[in-house]
Amino acid sequence: MARYNGPVCRLCRREGQKLFLKGERCHSPKCAMERKGYAPGEHGNDRRGRRRPSDYALQLREKQKLRAIYGLLERQFRRYVERATKAKGVTGFMLLSLLERRLDSVLRRAGFASSQAQARQVVRHRHIAVNGRVCDIPSRSVREGDVIEVREKSRDLQPITESLAHGYEVPEWLEVDRENLTITVKRLPEPEDINVDVDEQQVVEFYAR
Ligand code: SF4
Repeated sequence: MARYNGPVCRLCRREGQKLFLKGERCHSPKCAMERKGYAPGEHGNDRRGRRRPSDYALQLREKQKLRAIYGLLERQFRRYVERATKAKGVTGFMLLSLLERRLDSVLRRAGFASSQAQARQVVRHRHIAVNGRVCDIPSRSVREGDVIEVREKSRDLQPITESLAHGYEVPEWLEVDRENLTITVKRLPEPEDINVDVDEQQVVEFYAR
């Protein structure tokens, strides 16, 4: 599946907010937002003539932020919005829930990867099994009771061991066994389990236009 291959720090600078797309680097002084936290491009630091953004612009920015956080292209992202719209429940929350239930998101939240891109690569390279079967599809949606594990041959994989050593906080809906390198989906995420700094309602309104 295609994905964005451009400079990712530029995405944070465009949004004027840390989106944590580069793992460890995001927590260090090397973070581009620490060094030049203004918009990219020739006039990025030029504040002259700036107007209050329109409602459309605000909605667009929130949508782009959410898309960048999960590393999705427009077409893939739009499919999630369509699924969330059809699902029972509050559309904004359903959208976040679907995104959080992706296998790569689960690995990141459980601290097995330090960024979404790294999590995606770990899955793509067949280091992960779900319910005992190898799964190389980062978009696979997890269900209650699923057990995700790092395959025997991949237990010493550097990105995984380094991420686990960092000790990321794990949301309550997941149970992590660090010894056996497994993640159990105890239940599906509730609104209080999802900590994403985006106004999802604006995203829903963007697509409702
Ligand atoms: Fe964004 Fe991380 Fe780059 Fe900082 S280091 S600008 S948080 S991707």
